[in-house]
Amino acid sequence: MKIHGLQKMTLLDFPGKVACTVFLGGCDFRCPFCHNAGLLDGTAPAVMDDEALLRFLKGRQGLLDGVAITGGEPLLRRDLPVLLRAIRALGFAVKVDTNGNHPAVLEGLLREGLVDYVAMDIKNSPEKYTLTVGLEALDLAPIRESIQLLMDSPIPYEFRTTVVDELHTAQDFEAIGRWITGAKAYFLQPFTDRDSVPFDGFHAPSRENLEKYASIASVYVPYTTIRGL
Ligand code: SF4
Repeated sequence: MKIHGLQKMTLLDFPGKVACTVFLGGCDFRCPFCHNAGLLDGTAPAVMDDEALLRFLKGRQGLLDGVAITGGEPLLRRDLPVLLRAIRALGFAVKVDTNGNHPAVLEGLLREGLVDYVAMDIKNSPEKYTLTVGLEALDLAPIRESIQLLMDSPIPYEFRTTVVDELHTAQDFEAIGRWITGAKAYFLQPFTDRDSVPFDGFHAPSRENLEKYASIASVYVPYTTIRGL
């Protein structure tokens, strides 16, 4: 498998773990505020293959606890279960990030016990979802299914929203809160601009708005937290 990036150590990407972060290419969404736009079409050059990654991990046994798999959208990769089995066989916990559009794959990973933590994006309220993921049309049924799978799962998970001033309002967080009522954890993280973001004109919300949005969502998800301020 092609690996498109490796951050050799992070204390931020996998809650409670000293981890590395592995980036896989390809995504079926086109969020206009994406930080990893260069990875979306899957044509970016690989930095290593899975064998090299596993060699790296063998050298980090006892130093790292976990591996965070992100993208792109990792669940698009058919050989993901093979990679996760190999990583877990080396004794590492696994976190997977997902855009929530692949519930059958997610269900398989959960059923086989291949993930220890899942972070799923909630891009926006249902009525603004398609706009926010940069597509002309989107069936929300897979998103709803992934939400339910995680809420029914015994493993730790989080829902999270990258909050963009131009895309989110208080009403959206009312709707999101209702959508994920009773979830274990919900994080709001402010958009940050980078050179890799494909479109200009997006801004972080004010601290005041972010706190207002978190307060609205916390009515439905008591563990709602702002991350990255
Ligand atoms: S789902 Fe994630 S990786 Fe895919 S376009 Fe959106 S922000 Fe980028």
